[in-house]
Amino acid sequence: MKLQLLPSTFDENGAASARQHLSCFVIDECVAIDAGSLAMAASAAQKKQIRDVVLTHAHLDHIAGLPLFIDDLFATLDAPVRVHAVPHVIETLERDVFNWEIYPRFSELENANGAVMKYQPFEIGQEFSVKHLRLKSISVNHKVPSVGFVVSDGKTSVALSGDTAKTDEFWKILNQETNLSALLIECAFPDELEELAEVSHHLTPQTLRRELEKFNRKECLIYVINIKPMYRDEVVRQIEELKIENLQILEVGQIYEW
Ligand SMILES: [Zn+2]
Repeated sequence: MKLQLLPSTFDENGAASARQHLSCFVIDECVAIDAGSLAMAASAAQKKQIRDVVLTHAHLDHIAGLPLFIDDLFATLDAPVRVHAVPHVIETLERDVFNWEIYPRFSELENANGAVMKYQPFEIGQEFSVKHLRLKSISVNHKVPSVGFVVSDGKTSVALSGDTAKTDEFWKILNQETNLSALLIECAFPDELEELAEVSHHLTPQTLRRELEKFNRKECLIYVINIKPMYRDEVVRQIEELKIENLQILEVGQIYEW
């Protein structure tokens, strides 16, 4: 399975910055998990192939690229972009984003070939198929209804936490997985902002360390994602100080294969 965290911003030379402002993971060049930078950073080949977008939750940094992605492709789509999300997220998108005020309600619009956007609701805890992948959604602990996923291609499984604070359900499900090659786990804030992390339902390096004690797949590779860009250097330093084997930062733009 191939996975790439798309870039969010670019440095003064136009190269992708290591800082992650937005969240969008492309799997096997054809399925997006979250759509933060989807319209802005997907390659031409990815834009051609991605017709399934799976959302963890409706926060802006996870959905910002979705309206623009559909807009950019509007005339050329010969099948609708399928947006997989829990009902609460779909209601939020329809009410607060695709409401004609912020952006057009694409779910009601058609091009010459038919519908351009279609919702595929799933319930928290449900398993479902997207292209060649099998996804299991898992409830996590964030400020709004949010899910993490175990994504399997039949050979390899990869888990993504999305945004979360401390949680038990996620670890319970992961500990039952037999083929887990990699775990992508959030760590948004540095330790000195633990209070802010707590009210906004995120992790810090120290709370991440305590969470990982619940994870019994010691051979699994662990990658840190969703670090707030303003605190990246501090969080990276504190994660290095944890000296946890197999724990590293997921690099923006790099294609990982497990
Ligand atoms: Zn969030």
